[in-house]
Parts: sequence; C-alpha cells; structure tokens
Amino acid sequence: MNQMNNFPSQKLHEECGVFGVYQQPDASFLTFFGLHALQHRGQEAAGIACGDGTQILCVKGKGLVTDVFEKDALSQLTGANSIGHVRYSTEGGDEIENVQPILAKAHMGSLAVAHNGQIINAQDLRCSLEEKGSIFRGSSDSEIILHLIQRGKGSLLEKIQQACNLLDGAFAFLILTEKNLYAIRDKNGLRPLSIARKGNGFAVSSETCAFDLIGADYIRDVQPGEIVKFSSKGMQSFSYTSCVQERICAMEYIYFARPDSNICGRNVHTMRRSTGRILAKKDRLQGLQADIVIGVPDSSLSAAMGYSEESGLPYEMGLVKNRYVGRTFIEPTQAQRDMGVKMKLSANASVIQNKRIVLLDDSLVRGTTSKRIVLLLKEAGAKEVHVRIASPAILYPCFYGVDISSRKELISTQMSRDDLCAYLHADSLSFLSIQEMEEAYGGSSFCFSCFSGKYPTPLYQNILE
Ligand code: SF4
Repeated sequence: MNQMNNFPSQKLHEECGVFGVYQQPDASFLTFFGLHALQHRGQEAAGIACGDGTQILCVKGKGLVTDVFEKDALSQLTGANSIGHVRYSTEGGDEIENVQPILAKAHMGSLAVAHNGQIINAQDLRCSLEEKGSIFRGSSDSEIILHLIQRGKGSLLEKIQQACNLLDGAFAFLILTEKNLYAIRDKNGLRPLSIARKGNGFAVSSETCAFDLIGADYIRDVQPGEIVKFSSKGMQSFSYTSCVQERICAMEYIYFARPDSNICGRNVHTMRRSTGRILAKKDRLQGLQADIVIGVPDSSLSAAMGYSEESGLPYEMGLVKNRYVGRTFIEPTQAQRDMGVKMKLSANASVIQNKRIVLLDDSLVRGTTSKRIVLLLKEAGAKEVHVRIASPAILYPCFYGVDISSRKELISTQMSRDDLCAYLHADSLSFLSIQEMEEAYGGSSFCFSCFSGKYPTPLYQNILE
C-alpha cells in the first residue's frame, strides 16, 4: 500500500488463503469458486495452477479473483488437479513474481506452491540457499520451500519432509505436482487448513466456507505437523515431525474467518458469540446500565448477538455497512478520512437516538476507526456509548503472517485504559482478558501471542530488529 496517499489500514490483514482440488473434472472452475469464497483473506492478487498429469499450467495476476480470471483464463487451465491462492502481502513486495501459486520447473518435474502464513527464519534460509547457488525470482518467503525441496534427498515426499523440518513459523502449504497434491500444516497448526470429499476426489481449503460453495463434504482438518498426500492411492497421511502442538491463530476466530466457517471443528460465529456472552456477564456483575446492543459490521455482529442473549438487552442494527465502497479510496486529508468511515458505515439514527449503547467491536488495533465510529454514533444522537472489545488488548507484534509489525502502532501499548477510553470518546471501555478468552473458546490450544507476548516458536534476531 502506498502510505503517501492512502491512510494506513486500520484493521488487521490476513496474509492470504489457499484452496485446492484433486481429481475433479472442472478443477480450475472449482478452484475459482473456492478462491471467491476466500476473497476476504486477500484482495491484492490471485492465481490458479492446474496439473493435467504431464504438466502444470499457471495463471495469476493482481486484483480480485473475478478480475484475474475471466472465462478464457480458466479455460486455459486444463487438468483434474488444481491449487489456488488469494494474497494480501505482508512479507515480500506486491510485485508479480510474489503472486502465488509459485511454479518451478526442475529435473524432478514441475511443482507449484501456494502458502498461507509466514516463515520466520526466511531470511536465514534464503541467505544460506543463495550461498549454495539458489537464484530466487521474487522476494516472498513462500519461494523458499521450492528451493529447499529441490535440494532435498530421496523421494519427493522425503524432500518435502526435510524441507518442512527446516521451516519455522506459520505455514499452510498446498503443493501441486503434475499428478499429485500435498497439503501441509506447520507443527503448531497456526494457520487453518481443512479437507473435504467431493465425488471421487478431494478439496482442501483455508476455510470450510469454500466447501459449501462447491458442494464438498468436510472430512477433517490437516493436523499440525502433518503432510496429507492425494494421489491415485487416495488420501494418505504422513508426519514430518513428532514435536507438535495445536496453536491455531485466535485472530482467525476473532476477525479473519467468515462466520460460516468451521476452523479446527469450531464454528466461527459460535466462538464469537461466546465472547459476547462473557463480556455481558462481566458487565452484569459491574452493574452496567444500557438500552441496546450493537455490533460493528460484519465481524462483530456475532459477539453482539451473544452479548444481547446473555444480557437480555435488545440487539439492534445501529450501524449499517455500505457494501459498495471501493477498497482503494484515497484519503489524504482528515476531512476525507472522516468521510471514508461515513462512506463505509452509517449510523441508524432512529434506532440509536437518546439510547445508552453497548458497542461490540472484535478487536482494537490502532484505535482510529473505533474512535470515528463512537463519534458517528454520538453525532447521530446516542446518549452513551460503552465500547466492548471481544478480545484482549493487542500488545505485541505477530510474526506469523498478520500485519502487526511493531508495538508502536498498537494503541493499547501507548495509553492507559482510562486514557484510551477518553481518546475513543467512549463512556466506558473493556476488553476480554486472556483467561476469559480461553473460557469463551473452551481451551488453550490457540495462539494468543499478540495478546500475551508468549510465542510458540523461536524468534529470530533479524525479525526482532
Ligand atoms: S500472534 Fe496473534 S495474529 Fe499472530 S498468529 Fe498469534 S493470535 Fe494470530
């Protein structure tokens, strides 16, 4: 993003989404639909690679899935096996070489790779590979796996196992050969990846919402540290390490994923609703008096429903989202930035006038959008606005593919809770604690690192710097 002209993004961004099918007559078309269902995970670029048994063809470009793939582009992609990718770049630039899938033609055959996540030892691995003669086409961390595989020993599966063992960080990979498809998750399972059956073949996706669209039936998730191979022998499971634990990114449930997706067997809407319930219980104990509950569309609506159910306060549509705002709106002045929020969200004045409102938001990153929303509600006649954040305060960077790169950009590190409440023009402010989050989610098999500062993988000096 051009920071000179565009106001920096106020929400977090997921790095990307991956989707693939094995043994499907219309593989490229199904992958197009799958990527379309995952479009919320990345809007900068999209690509599809198809294997027809003898070769891999790849089409990719910048823009939304529907911009990159017109009918002619999909018709070129023949073959029954396919992988696709939607991208939001955090690591590597936005040049076309970094758009995925990345295709490599080697003596052992062709390989295409699509990756969601971030390899945190990418810089060290890249330097070492370059010293050994590897030449990289782009600057993305995802290309590293292709070079590591090429340098491995034994069968392709063994080479993939060796490569995965060298990677630290977050990865959900799809690897396509001329004949087979591999689906892999990192040993902490930080990024989601699910498997479904469709007819005599299979589908793999970052989120299960894509299965519903193509009529595939969910089977299970790829496990942390697992390599699932789809071949003429069907679906086979292999591991590349015994050192595994489940630490799925909590932000998938809080904000990234679609509410109709199930991640690691848990429905995203249901998880969000339970966070709203816990916030309501807390407020009841503290005697908060309010008239209505509203959520910031779309990702906070489920938490607002949960709050309403638990508190007995009516759930109202106090904010309405305009769905036709271009994502490249340029906002160089303060007045235009304020207009930018108003273009995206409108306050429903007849619902909120003279009301004491509980406003549910999924998370608080830089705080500017939340502040504008509170002001929008007050300008429209709200008597009080009590901001409730359905996650803990974000205090630390993410090294696993989400664009929180420094503590300075996080408003919760810069102000006390009271100052933050005043900054937002809110009448009160509260977050979930990490313990309450665990209670809402029913366990601790999640990554909460951006809240706790406790990371499930080793950190590297170059990242910290
Ligand atoms: S640090 Fe936060 S955003 Fe990053 S993977 Fe962990 S929970 Fe997700």
